[in-house]
Amino acid sequence: MAQKSYNLFENTQQQFDRIADQLDLNQAARQLLRTPMREVQFSIPVRMDDGRVQIFRGSRIQHNDARGPSKGGIRFHPLEAMETIRALAMLMTWKTAVVDLPLGGSMGGVACDPHDLSPLELERICRGWVRQVVKNVGPDWDVPGPDLMTDSRHMLWMLDEYEAIQGSKRPGFITGKPVTLGGSVGRKESGGYGLMITAREALKDMHLDPAETKASFQGFGNVAQHAIDLYLRMGGTVSCVSCWDQADRTTYAYLKGDGINLEELRKITNPFGEIDQDRAVAFGYERLPGDTWIEQPVDILVPAAVENQITPGNVSKIHSMVKLIVEGANGATTPDAHSLLVERGLNVIPDLLANAGGFVCSYFEQVQGNMNYYWRRDEVLGKLDVHMTDAYLAVSEFAEDRKIDLRDAAYQIAVTRVTKACQERGWI
Ligand code: NAD
Repeated sequence: MAQKSYNLFENTQQQFDRIADQLDLNQAARQLLRTPMREVQFSIPVRMDDGRVQIFRGSRIQHNDARGPSKGGIRFHPLEAMETIRALAMLMTWKTAVVDLPLGGSMGGVACDPHDLSPLELERICRGWVRQVVKNVGPDWDVPGPDLMTDSRHMLWMLDEYEAIQGSKRPGFITGKPVTLGGSVGRKESGGYGLMITAREALKDMHLDPAETKASFQGFGNVAQHAIDLYLRMGGTVSCVSCWDQADRTTYAYLKGDGINLEELRKITNPFGEIDQDRAVAFGYERLPGDTWIEQPVDILVPAAVENQITPGNVSKIHSMVKLIVEGANGATTPDAHSLLVERGLNVIPDLLANAGGFVCSYFEQVQGNMNYYWRRDEVLGKLDVHMTDAYLAVSEFAEDRKIDLRDAAYQIAVTRVTKACQERGWI
């Protein structure tokens, strides 16, 4: 059977329309919020190492900034479509709102494959991206940060270019910087830790002890590795992780029934989160096709790779033992699959809440950068825990009161907050 193709932006709009109906939003609010307020697309000419000039396409999309400066990642991906960037910008608006940060939502990217680019070429792309968007971004307007296949090196090159153009030091311009140069301690861990803080609270609601649970992860990048780190320290067991394999251009799942060894796997994983298959097998991991991560007999599934991974085509493969799904990747579940998960009575902590930890800590980095005063790691992670726990509890209480699922509750809270900000500003 041919696989249905999903357009993340259409999914995100459908999701919004459903919530707008539930909240009975007026026409102006619907029209304003279902599309981004501003979009820029541009070409970045880059001198390659062999002397050729290659043109890369870049973008920045600001969905809504009624609650404060926009905030959102920059992703480097060969198949980067504007529709995906649009969808993610909208998701960022809901994400900042659900965790109650005084920010709006944005997203940007460059269509490129970092696997095929040298560090110097990547630096030129980063600097070129800033030169193209300098008028549309800034600490008081729109603050970028890392996302898929971008990291602290890229953020620092971008900051350096921005400061050179502005003629002043502006560490609050970008987040995800190296800790030695204006980054926040705890930032790297925050996305994954945030996931597991919400999972910890959900397990409490479900009267389950984390130490008696098992999990399977899709993805073994920054988010997944740190989520696994905290989950293992909570006493949990991870029996499966899956990841992309660039050499074979496919995905693999690596299994160990009695639990993976995080440090061992990290040592054989490249910076793109790809596990060395031969060495994994030598360490005693069973290697299976990537999509088997979803079939594992575990209590918790954590999709932490890319969007559209839980679909109507694979919901039936989810093992009957699974009780909780924690969405690390944005748009991990398609809307048509979500209703099937609800029918099955599965608890799903939705992306906008579950993976907001990175955002919360990015906001902390922005605040620290703007005041040029930096907090200690325990202070950052303590504030992260309080913020994520409060956000989870607000959503779960709202869901309980109204007898709705966590996704609808999170969206209703977020959309209501953004609509109110737009109304109070007199926009609608
Ligand atoms: P990353 O680039 O560090 O890692 C991505 C991982 O996914 C890698 O292990 C890669 O091999 C794997 N992967 C890619 N395609 C796959 C596929 N089809 N099947 C299985 N594995 C696949 O990225 P990350 O920073 O860990 O982000 C993961 C997800 O979380 C993304 O969707 C991102 O948008 C989202 N997210 C990231 C942050 C953050 O702070 N980094 C915050 C919020 C959300």
